[in-house]
Amino acid sequence: MSDCLFCKIVKKEIPSNIVFETDDVLAFRDINPKAPVHILVIPKLHIGSFAEIKQEHSALLMKMIKMIQDIAKKEGIDQSGFRIVANNGPDAGQAVAHLHFHVIGGRPLKWPPG
Ligand code: AMP
Ligand code: ZN
Repeated sequence: MSDCLFCKIVKKEIPSNIVFETDDVLAFRDINPKAPVHILVIPKLHIGSFAEIKQEHSALLMKMIKMIQDIAKKEGIDQSGFRIVANNGPDAGQAVAHLHFHVIGGRPLKWPPG
């Protein structure tokens, strides 16, 4: 069993500001938000990165997508727009080695990111 930062958040060993929780997926507010809405969506199962997603995770990934759609509605950004980011590896600046999708919105977002 991995003991990474986000696994500790899943186990409630580290507090977080939870937005949605199901048996398999957790959404909580980023501690250092880059926009009015900045929520992280993670699988409770430890998957190290986007690159480590396997076929066997397909149902889990669909649950994460559904949660992102629900977050967009709940946060009122489904019409204004939002961005989903998965940083993967050093060049992308991935800091936490547990798969997470950033859901960012609530203001106009520049493209491309730096
Ligand atoms: P990444 O750079 O894609 O790995 O993103 C990691 C994200 O986790 C960053 O945006 C951090 O601000 C966020 N983060 C780190 N620790 C915590 C925490 N304890 N609670 C919520 N978000 C966190
Ligand atoms: Zn983990």
